[in-house]
Amino acid sequence: MSGADANTKVHIMVDKVLLDILACPACQSDVAEKDGCIVCLNPQCALKYPIRDGIPVMLVDEASK
Ligand SMILES: [Zn+2]
Repeated sequence: MSGADANTKVHIMVDKVLLDILACPACQSDVAEKDGCIVCLNPQCALKYPIRDGIPVMLVDEASK
């Protein structure tokens, strides 16, 4: 099980770095990871971006409310 733990840690580290870099393309607000999606933290916008194969798809066309 230690192998799986190591993988989880790496995954979380990558996510944190990504979340620091990422911003909502629609409103430039900060985003957070929630329920396997990237969610815009601006309540006026609140777009939800899918994560495919571990890569956030930061496209307004792909986003849902
Ligand atoms: Zn937004």
